[in-house]
Amino acid sequence: MNGASVTSSRGKAPLPAQERAEELKVSFEFFPPKSEKMEQGLWAAIKRLEPLQPKFVSVTYGAGGSTRERTHNTVARIIEETSLSAAAHLTCVSATREEIDDVARRYWDAGIRHIVALRGDAPEDADTYTPHPGGYAYAADLVSGLKIVADFEISVAAYPETHPTASSAGADLDNLKRKIDAGAVRAISQYFFDGDVYLRFMERARAAGITVPIVPGILPVTNFAQVVKFSAMCGTSVPQWMANLFDGLDDDPETRKLVATTVAAEQCRMLQANGVNEFHFYTLNRADLAYAISHILGLRPAVGRQAATESERAEA
Ligand SMILES: Cc1cc2nc3c(=O)[nH]c(=O)nc-3n(C[C@H](O)[C@H](O)[C@H](O)COP(=O)(O)OP(=O)(O)OC[C@H]3O[C@@H](n4cnc5c(N)ncnc54)[C@H](O)[C@@H]3O)c2cc1C
Repeated sequence: MNGASVTSSRGKAPLPAQERAEELKVSFEFFPPKSEKMEQGLWAAIKRLEPLQPKFVSVTYGAGGSTRERTHNTVARIIEETSLSAAAHLTCVSATREEIDDVARRYWDAGIRHIVALRGDAPEDADTYTPHPGGYAYAADLVSGLKIVADFEISVAAYPETHPTASSAGADLDNLKRKIDAGAVRAISQYFFDGDVYLRFMERARAAGITVPIVPGILPVTNFAQVVKFSAMCGTSVPQWMANLFDGLDDDPETRKLVATTVAAEQCRMLQANGVNEFHFYTLNRADLAYAISHILGLRPAVGRQAATESERAEA
């Protein structure tokens, strides 16, 4: 939904037409692995998702900069060993401007041109976020700093349900606008479960003069209890209907996976029917759910599509 007006038509929405698949764009988010086993899991996921030709994949930056090297190595390896375009997340936490600028310069030198610029959260031993003395205080400052280091493509975070520490929804939108004005070309949203929340947020963002794409962040839920805990911290509401759907499945991962795919696919199809054609998946380093949902939305692996076109041509 890049600048298109949004009308919420939940309930009356037709199923997405197949030709929409041509416009559909997805991106996949991963986190840097901590062990050899996790590394193998991540690479299996990347290889499985690669044929879907995502617009980009991104790799998160651990709290307090704890994954600085691992994030760098993962993104650099994606660039070297795959056909994917890769973005590195970068936060302001626990580092001076010079240190962050150095990290950014290393990315540029490694051929990485896309940064997801974030403030980050307070380290676990602190209650509230305090800017590092001599550091970038907020994401908007980081965007400005990165633009001085090099002409990066920059994405930033947006919050359909408002960032938990924002003084108001309006102040949070002003902050998003500051990040765009500083040079970001896209926002990726915090995950949400109620599509109407996102559509209403888009109306407010467009009314506030924010015209860049705000790509909905989609979290397929595999561990409901963990998601409830995490959502309370990041300000995402978990509807009662979701609790009902996952009720009784604590010891049944197979059914949970099927339910999770259905819930996220329905959420995406409702958005798709309302003009949204770009989705960012929080994969948690698993390919299966993101792959299945992308397929339901109409995406096909590049090779399969090419083969189909060739056989159609042969038949004609
Ligand atoms: C798509 C996405 C990816 C993420 N990836 C990561 C990751 O890789 N690593 C990680 O650690 N975290 C990540 N996060 C979480 C993110 O770091 C937290 O949500 C963090 O609390 C806010 O980051 P931000 O970039 O939105 O901050 P900001 O845009 O700086 O805003 C944070 C809060 O501060 C307020 N604010 C902004 N400027 C000012 C000001 N000048 N004065 C007072 N208040 C101000 C804002 O209104 C908001 O409430 C991600 C979040 C999203 C949505």
